Amino acid sequence: MGLDRTGLAAFMGALGERPFRAQQILPWIHQRGVADFAAMTNIGKALAAHLATVAVIGAPALLSEHVSADGTRKWLLGLADGNAIETVFIPETDRNTLCISSQVGCALDCAFCATARQGFSRNLTAAEIVGQVWFAEHYLRRILGRGERVLSNIVFMGMGEPLLNVKEVIMAADVLLDDLAYGLSRRRVTVSTAGVVPAMARLQEGAPVSLAVSLHAPDDALRDTLMPVNRKYPIAPLMEACRAYVRGDSRRRVTFEYAMLAGVNDGPGHAQALARLLRTVPAKVNLIPFNPFPGTSFTRSAPEVIDRFRAILLEAGLTTVTRRTRGDGIGAACGQLAGVVLERPRRVVRLHAV
Ligand code: SAH
Repeated sequence: MGLDRTGLAAFMGALGERPFRAQQILPWIHQRGVADFAAMTNIGKALAAHLATVAVIGAPALLSEHVSADGTRKWLLGLADGNAIETVFIPETDRNTLCISSQVGCALDCAFCATARQGFSRNLTAAEIVGQVWFAEHYLRRILGRGERVLSNIVFMGMGEPLLNVKEVIMAADVLLDDLAYGLSRRRVTVSTAGVVPAMARLQEGAPVSLAVSLHAPDDALRDTLMPVNRKYPIAPLMEACRAYVRGDSRRRVTFEYAMLAGVNDGPGHAQALARLLRTVPAKVNLIPFNPFPGTSFTRSAPEVIDRFRAILLEAGLTTVTRRTRGDGIGAACGQLAGVVLERPRRVVRLHAV
């Protein structure tokens, strides 16, 4: 499930098969949703039988589904080791977006995010990342009675920090972009980061998908209090990495996410500072009304406060959209994903005096 074209060709090579087998097998798995080698009619019975002894085509297992009144679906998907992650399907009139997880839990500890409360267990493998897409695409085709493709956009905005798992995320993105698999354009695949600066260049080299950055504050003093990662990678180097990400392509812009937290980051002064900050980066801004979760002391900014904030950014020439809240009745909105994060067994490390 997690092998991209190169990886699958190498796998075939190691079995003594010709690498082009990868090109026969990828569409079976990803476009037709076939998990049984025997059903792959063009690869021959002998290879199918051999593959069945050395490989499995597996995805995370559906544990539960919640459907909200607006059509948003949240799935709890179980992994082989007992952990579980959440994946969210967001249907819209002009697109169908899948929001996928990249880690079990999250280590970044952003003050306003429910996933942070769960702690961190481990990275997902590329197979577990692509497996969410494979499950969603073929499950939705079945229940919606659709023959053709359902998902049009993928966002790495579920549980976890994708750029702390950049190797597997790049491998997974390769599969999403490959015409023999999901064939999505890089505009339709978005990786969101809280600002892990050194991994941004790696993503751009490995799989230059669209980039979103969770900013949430226009200055270091405030951002330090909301997002501990800012103490390691402050705003100035983050902005430089954003400029570098889109350099050389005048049509590309970075999306900046900004959760509207009442009385914290939502004043006119914050909007003006944000407009100043983003003057030097090709940017668009997504304002996300804060989504509450049990135990949080933050609250959502009032609609008129969000409108005023947005008006200041528009006035400064910034494309700014207020995100419509989807799926919060089922705990599926931004920042509400929790899953089941098992405690990681701690290894005992003994230090010897040498
Ligand atoms: N770790 C990555 C991917 C998560 S994307 C990142 O930080 O970008 C999820 C988005 O929802 C991020 O922009 C995150 O900051 C935002 N978010 C987290 N908690 C939220 C909440 N309670 N309400 C609204 N947005 C929230």
